[in-house]
Amino acid sequence: MQFKDIVGHINIKKKLIETVTKNRISHAQLFLGNEGSGKMSLALAYAQYVNCENPTETDSCGECKSCKKIQKIAHPDLHFVYPVVRTPKFSKPVSTDFIDKWREFLDKNKHLSYNDWLNFIGTDNLQGSIYAQESQEIIRIVNLKTFEAKYKILIIYMPEKMNISASNKLLKAIEEPPPNTLFILVSEDESQIITTIRSRTQLIKIENLSQEEIIIELSKNYEFADNQLITETAKIANGNYIYAKNIVEDELNPQESSKLQSFNYFSTMMRAAYGLKINEIITLSNNLSTLGREKQKEFLIYSNRMIRENFILNETKQHTDLNYLTKKELEFSSKFSIFITEKNIFELHEEFNKAYADIERNASAKILFLDLILKIAQLLKKK
Ligand SMILES: [Zn+2]
Repeated sequence: MQFKDIVGHINIKKKLIETVTKNRISHAQLFLGNEGSGKMSLALAYAQYVNCENPTETDSCGECKSCKKIQKIAHPDLHFVYPVVRTPKFSKPVSTDFIDKWREFLDKNKHLSYNDWLNFIGTDNLQGSIYAQESQEIIRIVNLKTFEAKYKILIIYMPEKMNISASNKLLKAIEEPPPNTLFILVSEDESQIITTIRSRTQLIKIENLSQEEIIIELSKNYEFADNQLITETAKIANGNYIYAKNIVEDELNPQESSKLQSFNYFSTMMRAAYGLKINEIITLSNNLSTLGREKQKEFLIYSNRMIRENFILNETKQHTDLNYLTKKELEFSSKFSIFITEKNIFELHEEFNKAYADIERNASAKILFLDLILKIAQLLKKK
């Protein structure tokens, strides 16, 4: 990955390049940005620049031995730690168990989505983690000698998913770093990273992409999509390229869409709840309970977003710039939004958040969804 391949982020690129040209590379850096902002691409481009044999003032050369190996994710001094899942084959999984999959995933996806990664390596019924046993792996990497590069680099994807004992090993490594070692943490949620690690890393804040940048990136990757779809998508994506990409792919291939599935569940749920149709409610809770946990969480996040959008729609009485709805969502919401008011919005959010937390605690999904829908039925009457 070269800087020129990454849309936007002009200032960050400049700043990162300067750390190298001015010899001020901080040994532990936290690349923090929302989903779909391009932070992993920046981390990879930076790693490549740091070790490039012939860098220019604006980019790595892309041609030297080091660049070529990093591009193929096959450099002996470039290491990765990332969340993995337990599978029948790996009961105590560590990152290296999935390295082939990781290479394939990075090769296919310039913008990483955590959910897509989990789906790629397991069934979607699993929650990912950087498990305790990764500690040994971190120690091994830290103690490795540098083979051929200027810097040994460890990129940690989603350090917020790191088990506490692995976190402590990482902290120790960051506190007493071996020479010429660079830690790059690529995170979406710094509040979940232990504060002692946070305070010892240099924060590199990655901003969301602008609408124009999303248009540029979509047009490059989906040359067959029509301009109107791309422009409208860039608007509702709100700076998240992953979200934009999913919308365009859903439009081009509607059968496989997970967002469409969430929309269908959401609209069915609201109709069943409002009409208090008990049989439909039971069937729906059963269906939702058979989804994988990550899918269930995705659905709850989606539902919370729809509640907020419908509230805004109801308050403003028109579809404005404040709304981020697709055409299909707007069709449904133009009728449904009258049910979401200041009398129930906060409690509705609370119920969805509670259900989300319960799923993370492995509560029985069947009961949880049944309770949730009955509670929603009650709250919709409060409008
Ligand atoms: Zn190079």
